Amino acid sequence: AVSNTEIKIVPEVSSFITQPRPMLIDGKWVQAASGKTFPVYNPATGEVMAHVAEGDKEDIERAVKAARKAFESGPWRNISPSERGRMVWKLADLLEAHADEFAQLEALDNGKSVKVAKAADVALAVDIFRYMAGWATKIEGNTIPISGVTAPRSTFFAYTLREPIGVVGQIIPWNFPLLMAAWKLAPALSAGCTIVLKPAEQTPLSALRLGELILEAGIPEGVVNIVPGYGETAGAALAAHPDVDKIAFTGSTEVGKIIVKAAAGNLKKVSLELGGKSPNIVFKDANLKQTIPGAAFAIFFNHGQCCNAGSRLYIEQGVFDEVVEGVAEEAQKIKLGSGFDPTATMGPLVSDEQLNRVCGYLESGFSQGARALTGGKRFGEKGYFVEPKVLVDAKQDMKVVQEEIFGPVVVAIPFKDPNEIMPLANDTTYGLAAGIWTNDISKAHRFAARLRAGTVWINSYSVFDAALPFGGYKQSGWGREMGHEVLENYTEVKSVCIGL
Ligand code: NAD
Repeated sequence: AVSNTEIKIVPEVSSFITQPRPMLIDGKWVQAASGKTFPVYNPATGEVMAHVAEGDKEDIERAVKAARKAFESGPWRNISPSERGRMVWKLADLLEAHADEFAQLEALDNGKSVKVAKAADVALAVDIFRYMAGWATKIEGNTIPISGVTAPRSTFFAYTLREPIGVVGQIIPWNFPLLMAAWKLAPALSAGCTIVLKPAEQTPLSALRLGELILEAGIPEGVVNIVPGYGETAGAALAAHPDVDKIAFTGSTEVGKIIVKAAAGNLKKVSLELGGKSPNIVFKDANLKQTIPGAAFAIFFNHGQCCNAGSRLYIEQGVFDEVVEGVAEEAQKIKLGSGFDPTATMGPLVSDEQLNRVCGYLESGFSQGARALTGGKRFGEKGYFVEPKVLVDAKQDMKVVQEEIFGPVVVAIPFKDPNEIMPLANDTTYGLAAGIWTNDISKAHRFAARLRAGTVWINSYSVFDAALPFGGYKQSGWGREMGHEVLENYTEVKSVCIGL
């Protein structure tokens, strides 16, 4: 039962969650081989709201077999790039036509606001399918003038083919369930791969509904298989499967390392989008009217459950008090409530586990001497709500400064000299994103170049676009998503050499 909802749940969503949801294997909706299902919780109430087929090793086995068959001999292989692109585009159209339904599924499953899910998650998912649909016809090789060093009197014609990498396993997290599925599926489909997708156990619903649209878009059976289940069972089986050519993973750095080890069995290719502890740097010449709401958005968007969250706020002395008080004021303005409450501006965390994790970090911060300017308590008696929090008096080596909290908690630290900030900003094991706020354009570019991060936002934060590559330096990952760079994740280069 779902309570406290003010936006009315559309009938498509209520009927979707009433029935236990099966998994998609070889174009058919099937039960788990074990017959088991697992519960899905509404984070705004803590109550079970749906049941989903629980995939494990045997189901992964069936799904990989279907994906292999579709890759080697199915119609997918013979479909022209433009037809493939049209199918991916059609999927974007279908998703857009069902935007309200997907926004509600995301809000129910993850806890985020229906409005935000429609404007951000669904819109960006539509956008990546459209963007990648265009790439299907533009994946090209080169002709290469070679010298024939080992056969000097011969001449050659040499070229490269860029081919789909094969059967791809994709494992995604719960913070943007639909969008993470879209970032993974869109490039793999355009490149001509076949796929086994494992959504996060906390949030499997939107991926399963997307599976229905994938079939409706005409994408042949077996090309996309969707197996919900737990990480240690279904996820582990997929990462270790000897007939999977590549694994694409988004999630924690800790599990990323497990994936790398599991993938070593058959040396499958691996791309990883992992955690972050991103520095957001405010110089005293910044436009503070823009910077203060920008810094609050950088951490509080999606309840802080963003891998790129601007969770370390470094502020130049002179404007420290003004910025920190401004961000605290922004935090106090936030109204907690269900994603279906149109007046709420922050929803619950995704799970009980995540709530405990955030509260645990807060306690650790206090025990090491950090002080809270605002909130930070659990809110309400049901659901997984926590008040957004601004911490001060933190030291660089504290856990709350070094480790990813993945919740609405920002740590504000002052700095004296702009030259001392880069070593501090780069001083974590992560390197996913960073922010710089300044009105000095040359300073902005100079510091952007020195940040060890895959994305640097200047006078902005969390701006995403299907054309802009995203990914991590250091322990934030391997490879890039989006942009044409992502195609490297899903293609192999073949050199062909002809003696003339
Ligand atoms: P997680 O690593 O626990 O889980 C992610 C996925 O991995 C889930 O589908 C889970 O079932 C699966 N999994 C868990 N254990 C596994 C195992 N042993 N073998 C195979 N699969 C396994 O992470 P989470 O808590 O769900 O998500 C939060 C983390 O994801 C954060 O650290 C965040 O920074 C990161 N994240 C990164 C990005 C990015 O683009 N870099 C995006 C979103 C989230």
